[in-house]
Amino acid sequence: MKLVSFRYFCVRSLAATTGVFSAAPMAAACPPEALGVARALEVGTSGGLQVGLKTYPRTLALDEREIVLTFDDGPSAQTTPKVLDALAAECVKATFFLVGRNAEALPALVKREVAEGHTVAHHSFSHPAATLRNLSEKAAQEEILRGFAADDKAAYGTTESAPKVRFFRFPGFADTPELVAWLSAQNIGVFGADFWASDWVTMTPEAELALILSRLDKERRGILLLHDTKQQTAAMLPGLLQELKKRRFKIVALAPGTEPAPTRAAPEGWTSATEKIIAGVFAKARRAAKPRGPAREGAEESGQGGNPSPK
Ligand SMILES: [Zn+2]
Repeated sequence: MKLVSFRYFCVRSLAATTGVFSAAPMAAACPPEALGVARALEVGTSGGLQVGLKTYPRTLALDEREIVLTFDDGPSAQTTPKVLDALAAECVKATFFLVGRNAEALPALVKREVAEGHTVAHHSFSHPAATLRNLSEKAAQEEILRGFAADDKAAYGTTESAPKVRFFRFPGFADTPELVAWLSAQNIGVFGADFWASDWVTMTPEAELALILSRLDKERRGILLLHDTKQQTAAMLPGLLQELKKRRFKIVALAPGTEPAPTRAAPEGWTSATEKIIAGVFAKARRAAKPRGPAREGAEESGQGGNPSPK
């Protein structure tokens, strides 16, 4: 584990540290009042890693008031540019868990994420409605590998046998022990979340901001899940960054590393929040499907609309 501490994070520094990121011309333009990045946290994933208290009984050992921003499901032509603009205005770096087919369709946006110093991670190729848990193991592995290849092709123009950034998040957090073991054998880390914006539920940007701030007050630190595909999140983000600054929260940027990152165990009595949600979603889908014939497991998770489950 290697920590790189500096007051105002510069894209060039991350490029020099990791060798993954290309320097961005805008790095020098960061104003001193910007929120910036307090430190880059290099996360090694040799032998695997599972973090994020909503799903796993451990998370990254962040200090009080340290936040990791993560965005899932993009890129989106409508909303990702607004998210990137908001992050750039405050010199903040985030981790984007891409859907491969979106990356394939919008490679320029993925290249922009890389050029602006963000970390490009993976979230399957097509975000299957049934989740990877309800595919055959082989089909799920193919989904994951196709996602790695599409993301890397969009980001770097080339695809190698292993993804450049070995960070993966399961769609809907619906993992399986077999897939986690398979990813671990490839030295790929699985990222859950410590808290989220619930932005899969339609609400105003103001309501979403208030919800995140109330959760921040309670959690004090952690990996925050947002979706750069959501208009309400793109509209809310500038306000969130201002509030983080006002409340003296610090941004931690994740980067691939060679050494294991320190982790923090869940408090006693921990249970998985996402398992309860997944069980509820599939039970509802089975009930809804019953009168109309064979069950369409997870069919309601369409990636759009007001589904109460994380995507
Ligand atoms: Zn998702």
